[in-house]
Amino acid sequence: VPEGDNIHALAARLHAALAGQTLRRADFRVPALATADLSGHAVSGAAARGKHLLVRTDRGMTIHSHLELDGAWELFRPGERWRGPAFEIRVVLETDPWTAVGYRIPVLEVLPTHREAERLAHLGPDVLGPDWDPKEALRRLEADPVREVGVALIDQRVMAGPGNVYKCEALFLRGIHPGTPVGGVDDLAALVGMVKRLMEANRHRPARVTTGDTHPGRRLWVYGRAGRPCLRCGTPVRTVRQGSPPAERVTYLCPSCQPERS
Ligand SMILES: [Zn+2]
Repeated sequence: VPEGDNIHALAARLHAALAGQTLRRADFRVPALATADLSGHAVSGAAARGKHLLVRTDRGMTIHSHLELDGAWELFRPGERWRGPAFEIRVVLETDPWTAVGYRIPVLEVLPTHREAERLAHLGPDVLGPDWDPKEALRRLEADPVREVGVALIDQRVMAGPGNVYKCEALFLRGIHPGTPVGGVDDLAALVGMVKRLMEANRHRPARVTTGDTHPGRRLWVYGRAGRPCLRCGTPVRTVRQGSPPAERVTYLCPSCQPERS
């Protein structure tokens, strides 16, 4: 599942491939965009804002996409065979050196670039963005002290970027049970700082590592390790479900390293 670090890396790849290039074809395969025509526009750049991807043109338009759980963008050279089934394609951006193809993208829209800020105004500061502001993230986190910290940490209105992996790993590293109310967490600033540290450390890595050990199966402390021994204390890793559908997530934790407080 893409998190903010993946989207920032993706934006950098798309920027390197497309910036300065003219769109020979911009083919949107979603009904709402059937009449959108950006062909002839030059791509001025690509950027990320949390998990949102923004591809901008020189004529003041932005292609905004969000991959949610399963979407993807791929880059192909001219004549290269596209991977993935054609019916999953939602958008094709063709330039001379590269064609960018978006698959299974649930959120896809074209809007004037000057309306980006308004469209994304709900987002908290972007953990990996130039607008990062830990005090503002903390203020937003503390605004709802009774909410479970494992739910609040991935609320994009608190901070833009973190998803379930960084949430689980940061809570483990701080020894905090994910069901703890926000107001009951001893050092919230340190928790926010941990999320930032983990995401920064991984923004240029191909595979996420929070343990310092790059061996497969030992890269993460608890995420995805249900039933296996905690890498620190040996207690089997457990899962709990948090949040309500469709935002429900499986949270991984070590019950010994992250004891529940009474
Ligand atoms: Zn443990």
